[in-house]
Amino acid sequence: MDRILEVRPDDLLAVVEPGILNADLNDALAAEGVWWAPDPASRSISTVGGNIATGAGGLLCAKYGVVRDAVLALDVVLADGRMLHLGHRSVKGVTGLDLTSLFIGSEGVLGVVVGATLKLRRLVPGTVHTIAATFPDVRAAAAASSAVTAAGLQPSIMELMDATCLAAARRLLGLDPGTDDALLTIQTDGAASAAEADAIAEVLRTAGGAVEVSGDPDEGERLLALRRAMHPAMESLGTTLIEDVSVPRSRLAEMFDEIARVEREHGVTIPTVAHAGDGNLHPNFIFDGPEVPAPIWDAADDLFRAALRLGGTLTGEHGIGVLKRRWLADELGQDQWDLQRQIKAVFDPHGILNPGKVFAP
Ligand SMILES: Cc1cc2nc3c(=O)[nH]c(=O)nc-3n(C[C@H](O)[C@H](O)[C@H](O)COP(=O)(O)OP(=O)(O)OC[C@H]3O[C@@H](n4cnc5c(N)ncnc54)[C@H](O)[C@@H]3O)c2cc1C
Repeated sequence: MDRILEVRPDDLLAVVEPGILNADLNDALAAEGVWWAPDPASRSISTVGGNIATGAGGLLCAKYGVVRDAVLALDVVLADGRMLHLGHRSVKGVTGLDLTSLFIGSEGVLGVVVGATLKLRRLVPGTVHTIAATFPDVRAAAAASSAVTAAGLQPSIMELMDATCLAAARRLLGLDPGTDDALLTIQTDGAASAAEADAIAEVLRTAGGAVEVSGDPDEGERLLALRRAMHPAMESLGTTLIEDVSVPRSRLAEMFDEIARVEREHGVTIPTVAHAGDGNLHPNFIFDGPEVPAPIWDAADDLFRAALRLGGTLTGEHGIGVLKRRWLADELGQDQWDLQRQIKAVFDPHGILNPGKVFAP
C-alpha cells in the first residue's frame, strides 16, 4: 500500500497509502512544488504510516512542525474490521472529538492506518545558509542554542553533538579528530536566510562559539555530514540504545548537566545528540551483546526521571513501544494511565492490536 492517490497543490494536501516511504513521497511531491514537512532522520527507510503511528519528528520540526501538525485526515481500520474516515480535507474543522489526533502517535494500538490525507507546504524559496559553531564544552553549546531561540530567531535546523558523538562521527568519516568538545550545526532558509544566519552567528559568538557560516549548498552538506553520520557512528561503538527525552528549550543546558551526573554516578558514557531547536535529546547508551544490561537500564531510569523533573517527557518522537512502557505511568499519573487504558479497550476490547506495546500487560 504505497501509492500516492491524489496531490492537490491548490489545497496543499495529498492523499496517500500508508506504506509509501517518507523520502519517496517527498521526491514525488517536489515535482509539484510542494513537500510534506516531517523529516525523521529515517526518512529514506520509514513509511508515512509508521511516521503517523509514532507521531514522528525530525530535524526541521522546530520551524515546520511534527507529524501532528501535518495530517488532516486518516482512514483507519478498527480491530473489529470497521473502517473509519477521521478528520477533514478543509484547513479548519472541529466537528466532534478530534480522533485524528488521538490516532497520531498511538503506535498501532487503536487501529491500522490505511490511508492519510496530508497537509503540505510549498517548497521554501531562497538559499539555505549553514552555520557550524564549535564550543569548548557541551553545556556552553546547549546554552548558546537556548540563546538563539530566546533571541526570537527561527533556524530551520539546529542540531547539537557532544564530544563523544563528534569523535565517533569524525572517525567514521576519516576526518581529523579535532579538539573541540561540542558542535552546533544550524541552517536558515527562506527569503531572509542570509540575514538570519548572520544574526544567529552573532548570538553564537557572544555565547563563546567559534563560528563558520556558508551560503554554498555543497559546503552546507559538508558541514551537516557529521550530524548525518551520527547513527552509523554510534553503531560503530557497540550495540546502541537510542534514547529520546525532551525538555523545555530553556532547560537544555541543565539536562546536559544531568546527563554528566548520570555518567559520573553510573560509570557509563552517554554520547548525546540533540535536536536543540526543540529541546529533544537522543542520549545513546552503548553496550555489548543484544540485550540491554540491567546497569544500563538503571542509568536510563535515572536519566528519564531527570528529564521529567525538568518539566520534560520520556519520549519526544520515538514513542513508548515495549522498552519504555514501564515508565509510562510515572509520567502520566494514575488517573490518566487508567483513562488511556480504558480508551484502548474501547477501540480494541480483545487486545489484538500490537499487544504488549505501550501499555504493559
Ligand atoms: C536511523 C534512524 C533514525 C531515526 N530518526 C528519527 C527521527 O529523526 N525522528 C523520529 O521521529 N524518529 C526517528 N526514528 C524512529 C523511526 O524511524 C520513526 O519513528 C518512524 O516514524 C517509524 O516508521 P516506520 O515505517 O519505520 O515504522 P515501524 O518501525 O515499522 O513501526 C513503528 C510503529 O508504528 C506501527 N505502525 C506502522 N505502520 C502503521 C500503520 N499503517 N497503522 C498503524 N500502526 C502502524 C507499528 O506497529 C509500530 O508500532 C529513527 C529511526 C532510525 C532507525
